[in-house]
Amino acid sequence: VNCEHESAGAAVFDIGGTWFRSAVYTEADELIGVSRRPALSHHHDPDTDVVDLQEGLVHYLEEELERLQAAHGPIRQAAISMGAALNARDGFVFNSGPLWGAGSRPIDLRAKIQERTPGTNWQILNDVTAALLRHVCAEERRDHGRTALITISTGIACRVYDYGRRCVPTDPTHGLQGEIGHLDVRFRFRGTTVPLNCDCGRPNHLNAFTSGRGLEAVVQHLATVPNSGFATSSLGATGNEHPHVTDFLAAVLDGDAWSREVLSASCQPLARILVVMLTHDPEIDSIPLVGGVAAKLGEVLRESLLEQLEELGMYQITDRDPNYFRSRVHLGSTDDDSGLIGCGRFLRHSDATDS
Ligand SMILES: [Zn+2]
Repeated sequence: VNCEHESAGAAVFDIGGTWFRSAVYTEADELIGVSRRPALSHHHDPDTDVVDLQEGLVHYLEEELERLQAAHGPIRQAAISMGAALNARDGFVFNSGPLWGAGSRPIDLRAKIQERTPGTNWQILNDVTAALLRHVCAEERRDHGRTALITISTGIACRVYDYGRRCVPTDPTHGLQGEIGHLDVRFRFRGTTVPLNCDCGRPNHLNAFTSGRGLEAVVQHLATVPNSGFATSSLGATGNEHPHVTDFLAAVLDGDAWSREVLSASCQPLARILVVMLTHDPEIDSIPLVGGVAAKLGEVLRESLLEQLEELGMYQITDRDPNYFRSRVHLGSTDDDSGLIGCGRFLRHSDATDS
């Protein structure tokens, strides 16, 4: 990352399934004028057509840019952190479960907003990439190794930064990397395989078990299975068979044994994927955990994941270096600003995601 470039204040946006946020990112690497509104999303407005939600987003970006320019003067650069699968090379948005649900449609968002606001140059990046760039830029500069950031929130995903090439490498055609949430996994609880569908509609993706929404679905599923142990948990004691994920996370933090067991089971498929990643890419030396679930559970999540990783082990490595996983997996920044800061970093260091 070239950290010497200077540029004027930029408009930065964080578009997620719960909140839309905006701010100005200054030359001094600070956020000013941060504001937010509830997201225009399928989750909040299930009766609104996807096309109308997408038009609403373009309208929001246009109006918000106008508002920021009125308050802070002309803005020539803008970047959007999107909670969506997109082509990092051209900003074409493929899909967003959190924003547009199962009826999600592709949209050339960059072209649409660029056409309406020709005086500002727009860039679009994925929210996990934005969070990764924030973390990378906060570290000491180095020219070797890789950071693999894992976000566990509504969904789950990973992005890897390559310090040697100073980029987030992506598929040369499709512009994707690290969508581990849509890898096929097997989730087992007390010896029984649990089948659940992912938000994308396909069965048994990591998302379906290990994300915030996945954990909620797992708990609600187990609540209907005789002898799953749900009835013995503090959640079962309430008589509510549809506990919200926040109830589950609170039970985990309270030390409820059954809830801890569910968390361990859900960390196992993620641990398996990480072991494969580390086997293929031995230069990954930092694995920050971020996202709402990581923010809520903190060290409890880290320890649960480490327990699964250490159980699996790395061939010929962990016997010699029992600290191998522990020295890599850590908690990242879990405030709400990673999307906005990541956008600012991306604009100021525009070589950051060149391949
Ligand atoms: Zn999926």
